[in-house]
Amino acid sequence: GSRISETDPDIYAAIVEEEKRQRFNIELIASENFASPAVMEAQGSVLTNKYAEGYPGRRWYGGCENVDVIEQIAIDRAKKLFGADHANVQPHSGSQANTAVYFSVLKPGDKILTMDLSHGGHLTHGHKANFSGRFYDVTHYGVSKEDEQIDYDHLAELARETKPALITCGASAYSRVIDFERMGQIAREVGAYLFVDMAHIAGLVAAGVHPNPVPHADFVTSTTHKSLRGPRGGIILCKEEFAKKIDSQVFPGIQGGPLMHVIAAKAVCFGEALKEDFKGYQEQVVKNAQAIAARLTEHGYRVVSGGTDNHVLMVDLRSKDLNGSVASTTLDEAGITVNKNSIPFDTGTPMKPSGIRIGTPAVTTRGMKEADIVQVADFINEALQSVGDEAKLHALRDRVHDFMRAFPMPI
Ligand code: PLP
Repeated sequence: GSRISETDPDIYAAIVEEEKRQRFNIELIASENFASPAVMEAQGSVLTNKYAEGYPGRRWYGGCENVDVIEQIAIDRAKKLFGADHANVQPHSGSQANTAVYFSVLKPGDKILTMDLSHGGHLTHGHKANFSGRFYDVTHYGVSKEDEQIDYDHLAELARETKPALITCGASAYSRVIDFERMGQIAREVGAYLFVDMAHIAGLVAAGVHPNPVPHADFVTSTTHKSLRGPRGGIILCKEEFAKKIDSQVFPGIQGGPLMHVIAAKAVCFGEALKEDFKGYQEQVVKNAQAIAARLTEHGYRVVSGGTDNHVLMVDLRSKDLNGSVASTTLDEAGITVNKNSIPFDTGTPMKPSGIRIGTPAVTTRGMKEADIVQVADFINEALQSVGDEAKLHALRDRVHDFMRAFPMPI
């Protein structure tokens, strides 16, 4: 036989267990989703065998006639979906996409102005442990203490003071609409490039549920696996004038051969996102995030910034004498998956931050509506009232697993 179950039982067993975990636990990690069977089929196809360095029609290898068709469809759909002049669909990840953008227009030592990780930014937005923090001279902006939303006036002041070559915006843990138009004005005023990393909200943008950064930014990157619901990977969108620079930074600048099986899966994902029902899905993602935020507030939790406009919310656990670390391990015991997360002006530590991050793209793919997500909030509250009580948490986990039977996986 040649199935994994026969050739490699150890790996097979772990995959089976992971499928069970995904099927029966409540998945609330804001950056995760359940890809469609078509996306998974493309990703598991014979395309994994093919080398195709270069771009459609300009390859370094023979035998690229079929993968050329696939990559061109992926490019055309990405451009259509987001209204972009140019798309590069080869980045292996969101981080690779961001690397290519920085390398395309910055020299080491250049100044960049980016959102602080602890206020919701990403590691690739100038964190000192990341290449972006080591190669560039970084100033951070963040949210205001009053409303926990991006302080655009302060950002504009910082931009005038520091005169950055590039401003990065977009976030991993920010629950409010980002004013890309304002960001574009600020960048142009100081002669900086505007780079928007829309990884988290790309699905919302594609569906018109969040404003589109493309008209305002020089560069837009995204992952394809979060709210966009495709395979793991990245894309770059840019104005035509930067097309050549971006393409040559991705290959040969920072990558070798593209992952053609993943590019095919990206094309399938973009095709799905162009369909009418994708809008309804993304609208439900936001409704569910707002419903769980409201219910947790009723239970006495403080939601950062008072609520959410998108797919994610940050929950401050200090009113319950809990931290994000205890909460996430407790929720794991109850079959509910979240991640611990710093909140703005956190009084905790990175390993024991004061918050958890909750996202609704994955449970919405499973078919949950507002009434269901209210039940999820009640499960969360029940679990967090049972910290340390293993018997109670495991009894709750049985109820959680039962509850999830009503929301089948797409495969
Ligand atoms: N940008 C943002 C805003 C993200 O949240 C993430 C992932 O968490 C990335 C980039 C990086 O993506 P990847 O994990 O594919 O490198």
